[in-house]
Amino acid sequence: MLIVLKPGVTQDEIDHIVEKIKSLKLNPHVSTGVQRTIITVIGDEDIIREQPLEALAGVESVKSILRPFKLVSKETHPDRTVIKVGDVEIGGPRVVVMAGPCAVEGEAAVVEHARMIKKAGAKMFRAGAFKPRTSPYSFQGYGREGVMFMVAARQETGLPFVTEVMDPRDVEFLAEHADMMQIGTRNMQNYNLLKEVGRMRTPVLLKRGMNATINEFLMSAEYILAQGNRNVILCPRGIRTFEDITRNTLDAGAVPVVKELSHLPVICDPSHAMGIRDYVIPAGLAYIAAGADGLIVEAHPNPEDATSDGQQTVNYEQLTDLIARVNKVAKAIGRDCY
Ligand code: PEP
Ligand code: MN
Repeated sequence: MLIVLKPGVTQDEIDHIVEKIKSLKLNPHVSTGVQRTIITVIGDEDIIREQPLEALAGVESVKSILRPFKLVSKETHPDRTVIKVGDVEIGGPRVVVMAGPCAVEGEAAVVEHARMIKKAGAKMFRAGAFKPRTSPYSFQGYGREGVMFMVAARQETGLPFVTEVMDPRDVEFLAEHADMMQIGTRNMQNYNLLKEVGRMRTPVLLKRGMNATINEFLMSAEYILAQGNRNVILCPRGIRTFEDITRNTLDAGAVPVVKELSHLPVICDPSHAMGIRDYVIPAGLAYIAAGADGLIVEAHPNPEDATSDGQQTVNYEQLTDLIARVNKVAKAIGRDCY
């Protein structure tokens, strides 16, 4: 249920309404917007329907939430969510590019990679310490040690970093050290992992499952918000179709859809969507033109030597070029770029 409050509602009135809802053993989520404050109540709608909540001071109306993803839906949060990571605002007027290698490749390499992507103009560093490899015999990543290499790179460059979490047992460790935790495509419906990152307050980059519908994608985000973590960024990264020239099929069409349905920021991954280096720039520009709040891109000084995903990894000239062109597209659609 949505309880829409009157403009100018007082804090005492809000507190009173919240207490009333809690006394019914229901869980209220208060969203204070520019125009309106809205209280979302998740739970047995019949209990609320029987209560004369409209009569409480400060309440304008009580409505049902139509979408199954309630906290993720724009119905319950009409203003766009902006998530601050270090000095970078994600979901605000400026689009942001995050970049780095697919995998952490040792401490000296991580520092060098972070320096280079900073020089190219990227504002956040990415690299995987825990790698979800298709083969159990492929390199599985540096694990926690690799996360600490990124902490060292952050100290050196000042760039915040995002890295994937695969195991609920690593969530607390990552929440402590990383600036943002990534849930990979293969784990989008790993509900225990979603609940665990939901208990933290560290921002979460939730990648779209390669076979997931947009509804399923948004329901996974709902799992995280329902636990209390509202710092969720949606990440379209291509989906599997019958097409087999590219690794996946670019889902740029998902961007305006999720931005219409949800208030959460959207950062897209053209590297995994296309799987081929030369298509990463056009695909990235298409995502930005469709309304994405930024990109996450695999970049490496020598992509041929990258430990994983080298075939889809751009070099630094390409990254610099991509960022310059992202800037132009952003301006053309009335936005700006970091
Ligand atoms: C990655 O970002 O390196 C990654 C494994 O992404 P995805 O989960 O989208 O395949
Ligand atoms: Mn990768």
